[in-house]
Amino acid sequence: MNHCSNCGSSLVVTTPPGDDRPRFFCPACNTVHYENPRMVVGCIPEHNGRILLCRRAIEPRLGLWTIPAGYLENGETVNACAEREAFEEARACLTDLSPYLLFNICHINQMYLMFRARLTDLNFSAGSESLEVSLFDEKQIPWNDLAFTVITETLRHYFKDRVSGRFTFDIFDILPSGFAFSTPQEKRQSNDDLAEHPSPHASQTVQMD
Ligand SMILES: [Zn+2]
Repeated sequence: MNHCSNCGSSLVVTTPPGDDRPRFFCPACNTVHYENPRMVVGCIPEHNGRILLCRRAIEPRLGLWTIPAGYLENGETVNACAEREAFEEARACLTDLSPYLLFNICHINQMYLMFRARLTDLNFSAGSESLEVSLFDEKQIPWNDLAFTVITETLRHYFKDRVSGRFTFDIFDILPSGFAFSTPQEKRQSNDDLAEHPSPHASQTVQMD
């Protein structure tokens, strides 16, 4: 950020009085330009045990698969965002939305809220941001061709929880070099995993661009 969006003057970086961190500040009009994380909202659209994936028609990760997800707009509820993204990317209509996973991705200043949802019908088709859309059962998931780490983690947890039928809301951190579990319950699970694997970091590290 170089120039003030209020008056066009050059900005400086300074810690405003009473604040505890540097901000972009305009000395001409005394405006502090705060920068805060952006939220992405997505959903896992389910239909009779299969889930809907979209193959991306746009960069980044053109040609790779994702669940419908996108940036929350100003004035938009998270539920409405999930429904809008499903329609824009897959012409799919959702019902029974249930909040499922929240990911902190602090190194890129983003957070992802993932819902579970059911398709109201099978009248889906590729939207302008998708090359194709299709239903997949667990064995068909293109694990090596998923677009983002957060998508892989979402689907991994979804299929793990589906075994028990308990889809409890959880919060996770995704780190530049891998992921970390945020909740006490999942930390215990993580420690169990560490005990099972001789090289836990090698086996669990995931890259996040
Ligand atoms: Zn200004």
